[in-house]
Amino acid sequence: MQNYQNAPFKPTPESGLTTTAVTTQLTKFGKNELVAARPVPLWRKIWQHMSDVSSLVLLFAVGLATYLALAQNGGWTKTIVIGAILVINVCIGLYQEASAEKSLAALKSMSLPTANVRRDGKVQTIAAPEIVPGDLVLLKAGDQVPADAVVLEATNLAVDEAVLTGESEAVEKSIYQDTGELDDNCQVYAGTAVTAGTALIQVLTTGMATELGQIAGLLNKTKQRATPLQGRLNRLSSWLTTFAVLGGITIFALSVWVQNQGLADSLMIGVSLAVAAVPETLPIIVTISLSHGVRRMADRNAIMRRVSAVETIGSVDVIASDKTGTLTQNRMTITKYWTPTTGIMTTEQPLPSAGQTLMRYLGLATNAEINHVDGEEQAIGDATELAVIRWLAQHDLDRPSLEAQTPRIAEDPFDSTKKMMTTVHELAHGRRLVIVKGAWDRLPLKPDQASLAAGQVAHDEFGQAALRVLAVGYRIIPADVQTTDWDDLTADLQLAGLIGLIDPPRPEVIPAIRAAKQAGIFPVMITGDHLVTAKAIAEEIGILTPGLQAISGDELRQLSDEELTAQIDQIAVYARVSPSDKIRIVQAWQSLGKTVAMTGDGVNDAPALKAADVGIAMGITGTEVSKEAADMVLTDDNFATIMAAVKEGRTVYQNIIKAVEFLVGVNFAQIFLMVGAVLFGWGAPLLAEQLLIINVLADGIPGFFISQEPGEPQAMQQPPVSNDESILARGLGQRLFIRAATFTVLTLGIYAFGRFGLTNGQAPVGMTMVFLVLALGSMIDIYAIKDRRPLSWSSMMRNPMLNRGLLLGILVVLAIAVIPPFRSFFSLVTLPALGWLTVLVATLIPTFVLELNKRWQARRQSRLVVNTAE
Ligand code: ADP
Ligand code: MG
Repeated sequence: MQNYQNAPFKPTPESGLTTTAVTTQLTKFGKNELVAARPVPLWRKIWQHMSDVSSLVLLFAVGLATYLALAQNGGWTKTIVIGAILVINVCIGLYQEASAEKSLAALKSMSLPTANVRRDGKVQTIAAPEIVPGDLVLLKAGDQVPADAVVLEATNLAVDEAVLTGESEAVEKSIYQDTGELDDNCQVYAGTAVTAGTALIQVLTTGMATELGQIAGLLNKTKQRATPLQGRLNRLSSWLTTFAVLGGITIFALSVWVQNQGLADSLMIGVSLAVAAVPETLPIIVTISLSHGVRRMADRNAIMRRVSAVETIGSVDVIASDKTGTLTQNRMTITKYWTPTTGIMTTEQPLPSAGQTLMRYLGLATNAEINHVDGEEQAIGDATELAVIRWLAQHDLDRPSLEAQTPRIAEDPFDSTKKMMTTVHELAHGRRLVIVKGAWDRLPLKPDQASLAAGQVAHDEFGQAALRVLAVGYRIIPADVQTTDWDDLTADLQLAGLIGLIDPPRPEVIPAIRAAKQAGIFPVMITGDHLVTAKAIAEEIGILTPGLQAISGDELRQLSDEELTAQIDQIAVYARVSPSDKIRIVQAWQSLGKTVAMTGDGVNDAPALKAADVGIAMGITGTEVSKEAADMVLTDDNFATIMAAVKEGRTVYQNIIKAVEFLVGVNFAQIFLMVGAVLFGWGAPLLAEQLLIINVLADGIPGFFISQEPGEPQAMQQPPVSNDESILARGLGQRLFIRAATFTVLTLGIYAFGRFGLTNGQAPVGMTMVFLVLALGSMIDIYAIKDRRPLSWSSMMRNPMLNRGLLLGILVVLAIAVIPPFRSFFSLVTLPALGWLTVLVATLIPTFVLELNKRWQARRQSRLVVNTAE
């Protein structure tokens, strides 16, 4: 490295920073991170929870109760109970918020970008936040620039700076010349993407001091958008809140004018009903369920980069997946080859001289390497090229020894739009060898070769056997030809031969494709390979079935957007496509209102990943840029992992729906119970403090633990939830009605029985029985709600946390009803034996009704199936 004399920065020695220097820099400049908005202080969080509608109403109720106690000289129960409930509510809110934040922070650390730095003379891969000013970083195509830096060495470096400039055309960068001036040309910026070439850069600034950091400071202020489900739930919540407030006002009015109660007492019961009936835990349950889903997906190798993607992945209609490496194993082996003189040969047979030449040419035009470190194989590079290295090794050859004989002087790297790559080598006697390897139909071969027809036959035969085909062409030119135009250089190639590579499907993929179809998801294969190869593999793994089509990129480009949309639901395979075609596929599906997941690994896949509803990047083979653009990263690059994530996503959705069913049904019943009893002239069947404690125990506990419920198997046997589907669809509306109706009729009946049947007109007995039935009955009901199938012992035992929480809840309710000081505190009374027996039976009725409904629905469903079959 030069010793830059005029540099406006302090040059780092060639061996990079030392460990001690790194530590000093780290304390001085901090981590290379875009700091998120400053953490919210605790008092602020408490304040936020206090200013919730339900907290405000509770606060009002505390004030009211205090006023009543003062006015009536005693009766502080309400003040204490409501005050305690207020504190408990805020504490639960804070705790749940913290646990959701914690799991998100853990998630963030899993999806950290990495960078290759040179420190202490060694190249090492570190997490990008560990980078400090002065670090030497090695960049290659596909990397994301980790910090603002000056370019010290570079070959063909081009960078996409769209994040900063909005300009999507890549810009070429040059090396810093020691002029003392740092211009844009020799600097690269954090967050931009390397689209081509390699470079060595020295970091100037990190974290918030970078250009990106300046912008990020502004971005911090933008809010996260609600997911569709959150939006739907918010609408449901506000609807219910209105209903609860109306219920509260009704009961207040009835209490004042029908029952002639005092104004303050009437207000108290009205307010309590409103508080009890507002499903204030619902938003929290959604957050918890989503962050839970994030964690479970991470356990199954799917790292979510956006929380809302947890929900979206559960409702995808289409999964468009790359073939190579995601559906297949990405362990390629050359099994057959063809040359004009030998015809088709297998790699098992002895190697004739034409095969020898083909193999050498392939080796020269390859960048991969396999090293043996401590007896372990370390493969670096593209799977296709690694297959070439292995073929060389089979014949005791390696790339360095080939290159020693025939040095490489130039390279035009592979890219999946051109689908070929070119290298130029120095030969003896003032000649040069140009080698091009790539797709058969893209190679600019000299047209009049006799061997072309035979080559086509061999190509098709390889393709039909599901082999990936790579063709090799070459040309010898005089060394004094002065050209920098690659098209000129690669014109009129001689055909050296073809190779066929086998890349077996991943064994898990076949059942995963079947599962996708069963779940109503349309799996699509996208590949750069030839149509013939693509079809053979797609048939093998079950993506291409009778009635579906496979088309090539050329055919795709000839279709107008309308034509594509019209037939998109028939096309299961796209072959020979370029990354830019992927966006059209995504958009055509989206124009039909479908939710699309799309995989990608390269730099130029990033736009398609962003356009898709769920962009999926590859953790192993993917570039940093594609990971940055994605919503989800597969740490094992496996298609089956996508299906695992779909299942988790659906489980999260189902659990949220179950929480809605659980909370909303009983809330409605509470309103009907209160209003109904007053209309019958019985007065309020529950006191404010009773209603509120039921709300905390019976709503809060089970609702919270339902987010931990493992998924039901039939979640994967139903079609995906569509974008415009109502939250009440799939029977939720009906089940809510049943639950609300059951509890209303049951509690009104129990009250009447306790007051007029069991005793002659003792309201407290009726009240006590209603309290017990409502609290216990709605808690126990969770078992019937949490499983769509008929209740079974195994499903009851599936969620131990829930069982423990429920047990605690039941014990507290019983303690309140049985232990004298608590009992009188809550104005409850002792029940006769028949009263307890009635409570016991009544508690089980809601569960019984739900179970009956399940069986009835199942019968109706099977009748429907029989009918359609006839
Ligand atoms: P895929 O997305 O399936 O990996 P690509 O676009 O990468 O498809 O590759 C398409 C075609 O390009 C292959 O069928 C092969 O003929 C050719 N090809 C793939 N990798 C290389 C490479 N490293 N060098 C030259 N040609 C390649
Ligand atoms: Mg590829």
